[in-house]
Amino acid sequence: MHEKVRINSADVKYTEKHIESRYCYHTASVRRDGDTSTVTPSSTEFIFRTERKVPRLGVMLVGWGGNNGTTVTAAVLANKLGLTWKTKTGLKKANYYGSLLESSTVCLGSGPDGEVYAPFRDLLPMVHPNDIVFDGWDISSLDLGRAMERAQVLDWSLQEKLWPHMSQLKPRPSVYIPEFIAANQEHRADNLIRGSKAEQVAQIRRDICDFREKSGVDKVLVLWTANTERFCDVTPESTTRPRTCSTTGREVSPSTMFAVASVLEGCAYINGSPQNTFVPGAVDLALQRGVFIGGDDFKSGQTKLKSVLVDFLVSAGIKPTSIVSYNHLGNNDGLNLSAPQQFRSKEISKSNVVDDIVQSNPVMYRPREKPDHCVVIKYVPYVGDSKRAMDEYTSEIMMGGTNTMALHNTCEDSLLANPIILDLVILTELCQRITFCTQDDPVFQGFHSVLSLLSFLCKAPLVPQGAPVVNAFFRQRACIENVMRSDAITQNTVQKRLKSYEM
Ligand code: NAD
Repeated sequence: MHEKVRINSADVKYTEKHIESRYCYHTASVRRDGDTSTVTPSSTEFIFRTERKVPRLGVMLVGWGGNNGTTVTAAVLANKLGLTWKTKTGLKKANYYGSLLESSTVCLGSGPDGEVYAPFRDLLPMVHPNDIVFDGWDISSLDLGRAMERAQVLDWSLQEKLWPHMSQLKPRPSVYIPEFIAANQEHRADNLIRGSKAEQVAQIRRDICDFREKSGVDKVLVLWTANTERFCDVTPESTTRPRTCSTTGREVSPSTMFAVASVLEGCAYINGSPQNTFVPGAVDLALQRGVFIGGDDFKSGQTKLKSVLVDFLVSAGIKPTSIVSYNHLGNNDGLNLSAPQQFRSKEISKSNVVDDIVQSNPVMYRPREKPDHCVVIKYVPYVGDSKRAMDEYTSEIMMGGTNTMALHNTCEDSLLANPIILDLVILTELCQRITFCTQDDPVFQGFHSVLSLLSFLCKAPLVPQGAPVVNAFFRQRACIENVMRSDAITQNTVQKRLKSYEM
């Protein structure tokens, strides 16, 4: 196994199977007494162990025939085949821009020629997106060639090159329960698993086994990128384990059925849409089985910017008081979101993104005080996948002054979401190969089943019960960087590394 970043330190050990590194985590506990805070620093020593062997990864997408599903499959194929294609502005080449792991970098330290940067992907052994094998389900029977054409995202000349490959791929039949997605989706539903909910879950499990067997992959992850569902009612039946998904469970949604089937097959499950898939019974099942779950809702455009901008304003001591966000889009996601219950799921998901940032500043905000925050989404067919996002941020500045910023963003929605899908599955797979122990608890263990490390990539991060939700962009990114650094590098050896950084 050849690592592109090798660490030259007594704290890092390379064995045939593992990279093992010792890491000292510094934290502090605070006691408040009136207006006095007493801070007591403490530190815990961790040993992180990462398996070096990268498995062959299979990813099953629910909603494979949608804009995201087809575009991410096409993008990976185009990268794998090294495709180029002509547009009116010149020759384009397949790439992975927008992916944290593939296209953003971390500073390793400084060498004789200045600072040395490496992409995240080189810090630890991880799956390359080109090697992912895709499969999946869709309620629409179109093969991926025709579905890619329906999506209207990629340039036509690229679609033509991909057609022979994409048209061979066919989504497996899926679960369709009309009351969970908008009525305007009904015409797509011609590729369905019939039977009771228990029978449908059993079929999904068979599909996972079938894919694993026929494709020869070592590991399968399942990711929901199907239409946004309405929130389900959390009833006593969903707080108990919904493992059998009985037909009497009216509030058990298709996305929860997929989550249950995946967890029962030992496959991590990620929810890329806003609905409350992870009802308490589903979380409980994942915890009992020790399987990762993550979500909710890809953090792609407007919300990502919000988690940067509000963080910047509040960190600069400027007080945002009103945030108003308009979106219009014309793809099938927009059509589905034009129905009130599905819009409501998205509105909830988008609305809490500034909470932790605001709460971090008791100088400007009273307890429970928040900026006014309004989200509007409209369906405008003409703009297709090219989503428009318009935001107005109003803030209070010094001495009663007001600062208003207005932003306008136009962007292909699916091309923002695709790299996030790849990062989610690659990061989840990497986490499955990491274990750690501490000086107090020397037994190696994995991360918590609710994989909050994925927060950077999600609008409404799912975290273990009682754990704080972090939305602020750079804190979320630092969390991933710290885990990778501690695992690969250890912070106290950062400066020593450049000597052994081989490209
Ligand atoms: P899309 O409508 O193009 O694709 C969704 C696909 O899911 C469709 O092909 C549909 O037939 C299928 N589907 C619906 N119900 C299904 C079921 N029960 N089983 C299997 N397939 C089913 O939408 P998209 O643009 O690909 O977005 C997918 C999801 O990702 C949406 O929920 C959207 O809100 C979410 N999302 C997208 C972005 C982005 O930037 N594109 C960001 C955040 C979240």
